[in-house]
Amino acid sequence: MPHHDPFALRELLGDDARLCRRAITLEAGVALPPFVDHHVHLHLIDERALGGRGIAGVVDLGGDPVELARRPLEGMPRLAYAGAILTSPGGYPAGRSWAPPATVREVSDPSDHPGVAGGAATAVDEQASFGASVIKVALNSDAGTVLDAATLSAILTAARGHGLPVVAHAEGSGMARIAIEAGVDALAHTPFTELLDPGLIAAAVGSGQRWISTLDIHRGDRDGDRTARTNLERFLSAGGVVLYGTDLGDDDLPVGVNARELAALHQAGLQGTDLLDALTDPWPRAERSQGVATFVPGAPPADVDAIPAWLGRATVVPTEELISDDHG
Ligand SMILES: [Zn+2]
Repeated sequence: MPHHDPFALRELLGDDARLCRRAITLEAGVALPPFVDHHVHLHLIDERALGGRGIAGVVDLGGDPVELARRPLEGMPRLAYAGAILTSPGGYPAGRSWAPPATVREVSDPSDHPGVAGGAATAVDEQASFGASVIKVALNSDAGTVLDAATLSAILTAARGHGLPVVAHAEGSGMARIAIEAGVDALAHTPFTELLDPGLIAAAVGSGQRWISTLDIHRGDRDGDRTARTNLERFLSAGGVVLYGTDLGDDDLPVGVNARELAALHQAGLQGTDLLDALTDPWPRAERSQGVATFVPGAPPADVDAIPAWLGRATVVPTEELISDDHG
């Protein structure tokens, strides 16, 4: 690709890509919309490293709603969050070292009334009142009991009443099916327990369900890795919408853009502008952040296969710090 050609640049990287230069250092590079990691746990990471390594926004999918409500939504990183994870009594992730009591609500009653101890609507109302923009439910049959159908349905109804989407952690036999058939809006992980049949994948795609990728968490688990990659390939082939997400805070994932996650997505068929869409989708927020941009220093990637590694050099800069070099 001729590096000076803005039309070729946009074909490779999307309509928002711009050749530019940083105002202070005059370093040349490419500007892109801000990147979002759609699955993180801020209480488990040193978030100060995010911006320098290319992540401008995060979706916290399990934390203390009181702590999260104290934070500015438009800060660095820009924030959306679920608050506490809703699960069955004693269900996952209650009791895990990474999930202190403040980050989990055990829902024991499908009640749609407010102020019921253990009630479904009460748990949703609480997260909403602390500013959640998505509700997270855990469905993990490999680690204890799971929410029954009536309670899951009541959680979905209560969330819809607040205008909030529901994201599910689905793990264990049949759990992805329950999440898809119940109509949850997103899965927190590409399903990794079992291969989903084509009909179920078609149902997920048809309902507009989004899958948050988290492929790199299966490093060192050959079966989980292969299952997740195959499910994602099939979901993408069927037209499914994927969001870039890492489950940052899990194990020793790198804080910032994870080039391994991007390489795995590229390999599964999410490439070029589609890969960038997964990184720049503001979900569950409605609009992208306006004040910041992604800056990737140096020449643009030579071709589509070079994009994942190239994106690993991304950093976040204030929009006003970039001078357009783009005269197309
Ligand atoms: Zn997580």
